Amino acid sequence: MTTQPFSMQGKTGIVTGLANADSIAYGCARALHQAGAEMIVTYGHPKAESHVRPLVGEMGDPELMLCDVLDQSQVDALFQRADERWGKLDFLIHSMAFAPRDDLHGRVVDCSWDGFAQAMNISCHSFIRLARQAEPLMKEGGTLITLSYYGAEKVVDNYNLMGPVKAALESSVRYMAAELGPRGIRVHAISPGPIRTRAASGIQDFETLARDAETRSPLRRLATVNDVGQCAVFLASGAGQSLTGSTLYVDAGHNIRA
Ligand code: NAD
Repeated sequence: MTTQPFSMQGKTGIVTGLANADSIAYGCARALHQAGAEMIVTYGHPKAESHVRPLVGEMGDPELMLCDVLDQSQVDALFQRADERWGKLDFLIHSMAFAPRDDLHGRVVDCSWDGFAQAMNISCHSFIRLARQAEPLMKEGGTLITLSYYGAEKVVDNYNLMGPVKAALESSVRYMAAELGPRGIRVHAISPGPIRTRAASGIQDFETLARDAETRSPLRRLATVNDVGQCAVFLASGAGQSLTGSTLYVDAGHNIRA
């Protein structure tokens, strides 16, 4: 039987970082479901449960689990559940970031060690940890995807501390891709343009960033969570089988502008 290149039929995976209907994780889970995947979807904080439960219908009724990446017992329970359910994993989406407000709103030069370490832990090293736990379950290969932003590459006003953190994340993607490639595990970062989400609202003057992208991107629009989801399907499906280690912009072309 030949499978359609963009089909996720028979594929199983984990989508992390769902907070509400605006979340990039929601766009990914919805698109992966529409392509035929089965999933466990996680949210990072107990308070999010009332916002995410009403969304399950659009995601094909996935199992919802609480998974704060700082709580190793919750992470262990997540992978144990995936192992029990399927005995394998085909994809994992890491869609989370955090930086303490004071550090995020100040200059990089002034950021505290605690703030920097916390931002790196949740926004970067957690991807490495999740990959390590996914690896033994990706017996037939798989796809690991994280979310980055252009501020990793160039200085973007007000992105501050998250710039170096996302730079470390994108570099980690390349090293992980080189290390896991021989096992058929592909690793990518998707770098969306500004999208109005809860995490984005923590960036000072985010509206200016969004308006600039809307008016100056070649396609004169913002990327949507659905656009990001479609890109995740492409990367995780057979269509992406020869790609690894890349950072793909889903930003209506904004990154090509000076
Ligand atoms: P969001 O607020 O919907 O999602 C962020 C998620 O991070 C939340 O679900 C939150 O619970 C989770 N999180 C924070 N700390 C956590 C922890 N300790 N354990 C587990 N989860 C935790 O916002 P979003 O914009 O969908 O963010 C998802 C990813 O996309 C982030 O990595 C963000 O940097 C990236 N991104 C966003 C934009 C944008 O403009 N929205 C652009 C580029 C990249």
